[in-house]
Amino acid sequence: MSRPFRVLAATVATLMLLPCLGFGLFGLAASQEPGVGIGATIVYIVLDILLLGVFVVIWRSALRADRNLPWECPACGYDRRESTGGPCAECGHVAA
Ligand SMILES: [Zn+2]
Repeated sequence: MSRPFRVLAATVATLMLLPCLGFGLFGLAASQEPGVGIGATIVYIVLDILLLGVFVVIWRSALRADRNLPWECPACGYDRRESTGGPCAECGHVAA
């Protein structure tokens, strides 16, 4: 994933958290109406958890790619600014 796409995905996922919360609150309010069974409440809660889960997964995967700084070893995070290239001094990881 390219960086602009990851930023866009994380932004959309963050913006969608509010509609998800609204959807859940709307579902809970609607389930209090007379004549609405417990099944509708369960459907709303399950759908809302699934929606939230989708956006949390997008958000986490978008942020995970930025975890390591350019000078850190991608395998172990070791600070390689003092190294002269070659495999990582900490774990032996060879940069591609
Ligand atoms: Zn390493």
